[in-house]
Amino acid sequence: MNKKTIKDVDVSGKRVLVRVDFNVPQDETGAITDDRRIEAALPTIQYLLERNAAVILMSHLGRPKGKIAPKYSLAPAAQRLGEKIGREVALASATEDDPLGTSEAANAAAPGQVVMLENTRFIDGEETNDADLSARLAALADVYVNDAFGAAHRAHASTEGVAVVMRNMQKSAVAGFLLQKEIDFLGRALTSPERPFVAILGGAKVKDKIPVIDNLLPQVDKLLIGGGMAYTFYKANGLEIGQSLLDEGSMEFCRAALTQGHGKIELPNDCVVADDFNNDAPRQTVKVAEIPADYQGMDIGPETVQRFSDVIVGAKTVIWNGPMGVFEMSNFAAGTRAIAEALARATENGATTIVGGGDSAAAVEQLGFADRMSHISTGGGASLEFLEGKELPGVVALDDK
Ligand code: ADP
Ligand code: MG
Repeated sequence: MNKKTIKDVDVSGKRVLVRVDFNVPQDETGAITDDRRIEAALPTIQYLLERNAAVILMSHLGRPKGKIAPKYSLAPAAQRLGEKIGREVALASATEDDPLGTSEAANAAAPGQVVMLENTRFIDGEETNDADLSARLAALADVYVNDAFGAAHRAHASTEGVAVVMRNMQKSAVAGFLLQKEIDFLGRALTSPERPFVAILGGAKVKDKIPVIDNLLPQVDKLLIGGGMAYTFYKANGLEIGQSLLDEGSMEFCRAALTQGHGKIELPNDCVVADDFNNDAPRQTVKVAEIPADYQGMDIGPETVQRFSDVIVGAKTVIWNGPMGVFEMSNFAAGTRAIAEALARATENGATTIVGGGDSAAAVEQLGFADRMSHISTGGGASLEFLEGKELPGVVALDDK
């Protein structure tokens, strides 16, 4: 990475403002249901505490849309972090005059301790990237660290604005360990992949993945396409797809991609179809040219699993975004599970395997393969934008090496 990291600056005893991504899922009672994002920020936080820095954390959570809302308080996240690091994490209180509690945090910050601002989205200026808010944040610290990969594709006050102000004030704005790891894995795959380099794309809509296909197609050796988006490619080829997902507006794109990607793009040759979008609906496995008119494609079939797995296991770099089927329903999760298994085997063979995208990461976790991938990105939208070849504003704003 061509950006400075936390290791390139002196943080000992300094006041360090860290943007983390604690946008964790919660149930109706507010209990955190998945704390991987908190876990992923620990290396940076521990590193700073070991150097006796005064750590001031900030994050967004959900979409409170510029209003203070107890439901979106970072209290549960602060508490969970406290449990993990074995010390108190003081949460600043949100007031009408100071929705993030910046003054309280400024007073409370002390070497070797952690304080946390309230939800950055309790104030409009966050998403509008307001200059005053950015300046107020920058005034809190000597060093700014961005470790929120999941928010790095947004030019917000806590990700981009504050970094720019820090630099203007001759203070440091650097990457944390998680951000660095994400950029290193994704960046290396895109700029200097060990070959064969294979990408697997799936998920529901072609439209969402057009920029990713455009960016990856020229670079990969193989592009395997599964999931709901495969059916639009068939339709574009003149096949009948029954009730399967169709993204009509993307058919022209699919035709062009199939021509440009001749010999590279591989589509499923069989699929599991159901007569309703429902786990218990009657289902059958058919060749893609034989989808019954009243059925819809729900998963890739066993022959496709075999073909795709052979390609994946022989690869040296694999990027996967988008489930192969409706994995949330157990009867249509087999294709996604088998592809996860193939990636796991590729990892064991020495390949670099990377999973990006919110649902894909959830699928790999849920199916029990998380430990067997080289890297699972913590950023849903951010990882997709990175794969699209876009620059992430939260990264661009950091100090160059
Ligand atoms: P990610 O979040 O990893 O980028 P997407 O959001 O693009 O992934 O796609 C995930 C969704 O695609 C899942 O909810 C899954 O159920 C859906 N999906 C996959 N295959 C199909 C299919 N054949 N029909 C309908 N939906 C599908
Ligand atoms: Mg998704």
